[in-house]
Amino acid sequence: MVFFGLSHSGCDFALRALQVIIRATVSTLFGDISGALGLASRTIKEIPRTIKTVLTRFEESLELRSTVFACCPKCCCNYPPSFDKTGKAVYPHQCGWKSSDSSSPCGALLLEGTSPIRPFVFPDFFHFIARLLSDGDIEGYIDTSCQEGLEAAIQEPSAVITSPFQGEFLRTIKGPDGARLFIDGGSEKEARLVFSLNVDWFNVN
Ligand SMILES: [Zn+2]
Repeated sequence: MVFFGLSHSGCDFALRALQVIIRATVSTLFGDISGALGLASRTIKEIPRTIKTVLTRFEESLELRSTVFACCPKCCCNYPPSFDKTGKAVYPHQCGWKSSDSSSPCGALLLEGTSPIRPFVFPDFFHFIARLLSDGDIEGYIDTSCQEGLEAAIQEPSAVITSPFQGEFLRTIKGPDGARLFIDGGSEKEARLVFSLNVDWFNVN
């Protein structure tokens, strides 16, 4: 599936062939000018020899990456970690947040031992997107939603709305080119992602 539907042994052969092609191309074009062969060798070493290694690295690269903040139990101020020489996360012991310049710091304890009393786990956004798009089912849902939105956009607005794609905003908002609708990925079939921001602490008063 990774290499045009080749079997595992076919993929392994393609990977080896790629290494040979790179070495032969560099050798033919440059010889060893400015250490070109050495550079090519280092590049070749970074190319996995088997498709199993490729898939393992791919899965590892898609493991959830996140940052654990120390969240103040009293005022909910968040503190990102710094890291010591061993790579261990380090946080301030007390909350220093002030409601104004003349106010006293919050002062609440943030840690139990060296761990946050209230950890706040924040996923890496770009890895979240990578994981999202690596799932074929989810990619299908994304494409279907946009397609249904495009069909809704050319029809009269419905009195009853059952999807955000039927709402006025997504029916009218233009994409980066200022011409097509945002949800129109065009002939390149770009995936168009729409996010909503939910806030559960906003005081409406
Ligand atoms: Zn605090």
